[in-house]
Amino acid sequence: MRIIAHLDMDAFFAAVEERERPRLRGRPIIIGADPEEGQGRGVVSTASYKARAYGIHSAMPISKAWQLAETARRAGQPEAVWLEPDFKKYSATSDRIMATVRQHAQEFEQASIDEAYLDLSPAGSFKKAIEICRDIKKEIKRKEKLTCSIGLGPNKLIAKIASDREKPDGLTVVESETVESFLSPLSIRVIPGIGPKTEKILNQLRIQTVQDALCLTEKELDELLGKWGIELYRKVRGQDDSPISHGEEAKSIGEQETFPKDTRDPSVLLEHLQTLCRNVFRRLGQDGFEGFRRVVVTVRFAGFDTKNRSATLPVPARTCEALEFEAAKLILPFFDRRENPGRKAIRLIGVRVELLDRLVGEFR
Ligand SMILES: [Mg+2]
Repeated sequence: MRIIAHLDMDAFFAAVEERERPRLRGRPIIIGADPEEGQGRGVVSTASYKARAYGIHSAMPISKAWQLAETARRAGQPEAVWLEPDFKKYSATSDRIMATVRQHAQEFEQASIDEAYLDLSPAGSFKKAIEICRDIKKEIKRKEKLTCSIGLGPNKLIAKIASDREKPDGLTVVESETVESFLSPLSIRVIPGIGPKTEKILNQLRIQTVQDALCLTEKELDELLGKWGIELYRKVRGQDDSPISHGEEAKSIGEQETFPKDTRDPSVLLEHLQTLCRNVFRRLGQDGFEGFRRVVVTVRFAGFDTKNRSATLPVPARTCEALEFEAAKLILPFFDRRENPGRKAIRLIGVRVELLDRLVGEFR
């Protein structure tokens, strides 16, 4: 029997800011791009729970968040606090948390700056695993004055979905026998990998919940969504046998930038691309990684149409120059007919690295 835990820090960036600036406590905090009095063009990175009560959430355009905060303020609610992200601070906190967490299990995988999987199978029972999770939560609270939510399940998929059910400060346990009753009533959006696109396709077939999706056969899902459909067939049944991985981590590090004005000037775009690459590469090092094997470039056109292009390298690259080179190769086709036949102006570009190589021998 496998017992897997997924730990996810609660509104991590906002919680760190709140901890370090007591006067912000209880205020709605929004971390992200400069809202510029509603004219800002970036997005929300993290919203504190107070800000979420205003309807603000991560990845929302910052201008929309501004409107919501204004509406709340006019209704007599506390004024929002707008902060730019301080990744250095967050990764230092993350490093300490991960060092604490990894001591509780032999098999550990850091999945992002504030998420990790642990294999607690050696504990032998869910009862023992729950005790370990309570200890981890207590230790993080004591050492860092931050809360996290943990999901416990028979695999990574269930653990991940479970950790999100009782936020903040939750501990959600789903044993093998209850997987089906746990998943069935949930929206299909909880299945990792289902984004707005897949959701729309499924909704058109009147599929809203995981339960609804069970009526589709493997063949139907394959025809509908291709290879990912077959994966989905297994996921809605709570099946997942992916291992806790240690080497190349599932984590990715990326940054994107929305321009103050849409542009199609290659020299401007390449200059911004280079800055993004340098920031990403710096964060890679700060997060304890030394190499990457995949580079992803995102381009959003003026009409919000968004394209991702990626390159996977045969061996890990370890220099910023390599990142800049690969990213430039991916973006160049957007300057001409190959990827941009309509000569559309570009609103945003992003750079992300994946399949990361952790620094060996360094304890973090
Ligand atoms: Mg989190």
